[in-house]
Amino acid sequence: MVCIFCKIINKESPSDVVFEDETVLAFKNINPIAPVHILVIPKRHISSVVDIKIEDTDLMGKLIFVAKKLACDFGVSQTGYKILIRVGKDGGQEIQHIHLHLIGGKKLTSLS
Ligand code: AMP
Ligand code: ZN
Repeated sequence: MVCIFCKIINKESPSDVVFEDETVLAFKNINPIAPVHILVIPKRHISSVVDIKIEDTDLMGKLIFVAKKLACDFGVSQTGYKILIRVGKDGGQEIQHIHLHLIGGKKLTSLS
C-alpha cells in the first residue's frame, strides 16, 4: 500500500502545498497545533530516520534549509519556531515517511 505522504507527492491525495521542487515537498499540516505548522518531506520515500543512509545526508540537510526558508516566508523567523522529527513508536511517529514539522507562531514550551 502506498503511504499517504507518497500519495500527496503524487497528487493522488489533496494537500495545501507551500513549497515544491525536484526533491522536497512541503504542505500545511491538516491538524495544526500552532498558527504555522508545516510538514517538510523528501519526495523519495524514506520511512524513518532509522533508515537514513550516508548518501541521504544532503537531502536531510535540505529539509532543514527548506524549513528555514518557509519560516521566513511565513513570518516566524524572528519570533522563533520549532523543527521536530519524530522517530518510531516512542517518538510518536504516526506516518512512516520521514517528515520534519515546522511549528511556530506562538510560544512553544513542551519538548514532548
Ligand atoms: P507524526 O506524529 O510526526 O508522524 O506526524 C504526522 C502528522 O501528519 C500529524 O501532525 C498529522 O496531523 C499530519 N497529517 C496526517 N495526514 C495528513 C494529511 N493528509 N495532510 C497533512 N497533514 C497530515
Ligand atoms: Zn511515502
